[in-house]
Amino acid sequence: MDILNNPVIQELIRTSATIYTHGWAERNGGNISMLLDDDLSGMTPIKSFPLAFTPPDLTGACIVITGSGKYLKNVSLDPESNLGILRIAEDRAELLWGFKDGSSPSSELASHLFTHSVRRKADPMHHVVTHTHATNLVAMTFIHPLSDRAFTKTLWSMCTECMMFFPDGVSVLPWMPCGTDEIGRKTADKMRDSRIVVWAHHGVFGAGTSPDDALGLIEVAEKAAELYMKVYDKEILSKIDDTRLRELCDAQNIIPRAGYLD
Ligand SMILES: [Zn+2]
Repeated sequence: MDILNNPVIQELIRTSATIYTHGWAERNGGNISMLLDDDLSGMTPIKSFPLAFTPPDLTGACIVITGSGKYLKNVSLDPESNLGILRIAEDRAELLWGFKDGSSPSSELASHLFTHSVRRKADPMHHVVTHTHATNLVAMTFIHPLSDRAFTKTLWSMCTECMMFFPDGVSVLPWMPCGTDEIGRKTADKMRDSRIVVWAHHGVFGAGTSPDDALGLIEVAEKAAELYMKVYDKEILSKIDDTRLRELCDAQNIIPRAGYLD
């Protein structure tokens, strides 16, 4: 496999730069991983990283992931230092390519692995998990109730296309320490029902079929959050209420998350 000329790796590299230019990846904030369909069985492991727990269905799977402490803005300048390709084993991740400067996988590897496991079961086309610090989604978590239903309904009501791109809604985790197995498991639990999980006062995880798809999903939610932050304290004269959302669902043959619309 010609790693750097692989179109999906190229797309992931471009996406890393885009996230930085959006202002959602200050310093080493943000990380991306992608399941690879290529046959990498001929590649010899360079080294291994221990894993406390691996979702059993991911054993043998290969992913490309950004490195711990790496800046997304630098991925395109030196992909082989900022990215690594890992083959997942029961108790370790084998490095097949990359991290040539001796770095290790993102500290959010657990969240990525648990999420890949859950989303691949829900959608066979699933490949990518993206974590960013989308500014307005994080801002909302300081002033808005954090229930999945309330957060989803506000975002749906801010922008017509939200319902079309995430009819499964948005999930929210209360603040908790990051970089742990616990936040990884809780993120994956929420990913059973929705492809977007907001981490209160931190950032957002999005899942998709490709780097563009996962980032595009976050971009739609972030646009809605930006609109909310612009208008929440203003007098609202017109809005997309539940009646209009139902009308939209009927027009577009969309099935919204059960129990969310009044
Ligand atoms: Zn983060």
